[in-house]
Amino acid sequence: MLEAQFVEQNKHVLLQERESLLGDIEALKQTLKSEVDVDVEEGDPEIIEREKSATLLETLEAKLAAVDHALKIIAAGQYGVCERCGAEIPQERLEVKPEATLCVKCQSEVERMLRRGMSPQRTRWHFPVE
Ligand SMILES: [Zn+2]
Repeated sequence: MLEAQFVEQNKHVLLQERESLLGDIEALKQTLKSEVDVDVEEGDPEIIEREKSATLLETLEAKLAAVDHALKIIAAGQYGVCERCGAEIPQERLEVKPEATLCVKCQSEVERMLRRGMSPQRTRWHFPVE
């Protein structure tokens, strides 16, 4: 079991992360909105910039979803337990990656499934949330 103090500390880190992600996402959205220019041609540096921003936005939104999810797990009192297999997630992993809700093994298995376009079958998980 994780110490309550450690969970509290990581919750704080996650909340800060959330704030900064929301700020970055908002700023990026504004940039993307303001740069709409129908006259730019394909391969134009402006288009490449826009594509980069759009990709970054996707990355940030995925990170935000992970942070929100981890906060939900904390609120449910299940932080530090792998939501797929129920194994304990080592504290060292949570120190590096506070948004982690899966153990290393499950994380890599789920990522492999998603890369192959397979569903990780959340309903069979230890915590079948969502
Ligand atoms: Zn696991």
